[in-house]
Amino acid sequence: EEEVVVEEEYLFKVVIIGDSAVGKSNLLSRYARNEFNLHSKATIGVEFQTQSVDVDGKEVKAQIWDTAGQERFRAVTSAYYRGALGALLVYDISRCSTFDSIARWLDELNTHSDTTVARMLVGNKCDLETLREVSVEEGKALAEAEGLFFIETSALDSTNVKTAFEIVIKEIYNNIS
Ligand code: GDP
Ligand code: MG
Repeated sequence: EEEVVVEEEYLFKVVIIGDSAVGKSNLLSRYARNEFNLHSKATIGVEFQTQSVDVDGKEVKAQIWDTAGQERFRAVTSAYYRGALGALLVYDISRCSTFDSIARWLDELNTHSDTTVARMLVGNKCDLETLREVSVEEGKALAEAEGLFFIETSALDSTNVKTAFEIVIKEIYNNIS
């Protein structure tokens, strides 16, 4: 008799949120296509990229959503969050106002999703050390207080970009299996 092996499939939705110009789109393009754009413009329409990741020998697909610039109007829709199992909350280490906004983004995320969502606080633009306004300690402290993972990244020089996404994807996998 023939044995039928059914391959399990995993497709995880991950959203990227944070103030305008913190580098959300460049984090995604760096991760998915190894591309960086110095003069990136807000995209029209919601966009996502699908990325395959190997977790424990299983192929996991992450559908990573980028805001289409709606964050400028402080109105990212509930459809954007629907079904998300992971989130990257991004600020710019050289602009403390973007760090102050994280509380609001976290509120919005919590309103639209449940607490099992794997959440990573991301301090982007760590290449701009001389312009730093948010210390590593401040980032860590907020992450600890809110129960988030924490990492600093640079979409410009690629520091920790892959790691940031893959920690979230692995955490989702661990949460569901
Ligand atoms: P978004 O509005 O959050 O999607 O931000 P973008 O990805 O469009 O980036 C906004 C600006 O910041 C662009 O000029 C990017 O080139 C720049 N940028 C993004 N990531 C980095 C980074 O890691 N380092 C530096 N120095 N600039 C960055
Ligand atoms: Mg963008």
